Amino acid sequence: KPHLVLTDVHRHYGQGDKTVRVLEAANLSVASGELVALVAPSGAGKSTLLHLSGLLESPQSGEVELMGIKTSHLGDRGRTQLRRSTVGYVYQFHHLLPEFTALENVSMPQLIAGKSPAEADKRSMELLELLGIAARASHRPAELSGGEQQRVAIARAAANHPKVILADEPTGNLDPETSDIVFGALADLIKNEGAAALIATHNHDLARRADRIVTLKGGLVVDHTL
Ligand code: ADP
Ligand code: ADP
Repeated sequence: KPHLVLTDVHRHYGQGDKTVRVLEAANLSVASGELVALVAPSGAGKSTLLHLSGLLESPQSGEVELMGIKTSHLGDRGRTQLRRSTVGYVYQFHHLLPEFTALENVSMPQLIAGKSPAEADKRSMELLELLGIAARASHRPAELSGGEQQRVAIARAAANHPKVILADEPTGNLDPETSDIVFGALADLIKNEGAAALIATHNHDLARRADRIVTLKGGLVVDHTL
């Protein structure tokens, strides 16, 4: 069963003649180890789709399932709990804590989740190695390049073994060469961890490296055929 499934999802904002219909009967499923790129123009509803997938927003109708769990009947607490245990999120800007090292930034969410410092650091090093930045473990964010910062943010998002990784323009702030390295690292990580990934990007060259490209048209999620 796919890790993330959206079925007939409808989401609009506003009312009356100010209604903005963003998603109308949107369907999408993302399997374990699958990387889906979401490429659509600004305002098409990419963030909305990511927010619905991450349970930050609810659809007006339709179903969002994470790890086989239907969420339409869950309350706020249930949604928060499910989000914390299944979703890792990567932002366009890294949002790393400036006073902490790369290793500490990756260990932090694990300590909050109740892991011992030794266990957390072991997992963090494993992720930093996988992403090719182990040599930067004791550096603070300001001492890292943009691409390194973003790879630390990816490691942090993956720290608690999320089953679903959502990313909103994770390379939007990087030059093309660095974007390529960061996207490649993210793709390797997803395969390695068996997570399902939905990555919003404007970058068509990067999107081609995904397993599948989807776009948003008329409120539907449609496969993008080149
Ligand atoms: P994208 O991420 O592709 O740029 P969004 O999902 O942010 O698109 O937005 C899709 C549409 O929904 C836009 O027209 C936007 O203005 C509108 N929208 C998004 N969030 C809200 C909101 N909270 N209230 C009203 N309109 C919104
Ligand atoms: P800011 O834009 O002020 O940095 P946040 O750091 O709260 O706001 O989040 C950045 C964006 O990522 C927001 O649009 C937020 O809704 C979204 N986001 C954060 N966590 C998740 C998640 N688990 N699932 C989906 N979207 C998320």
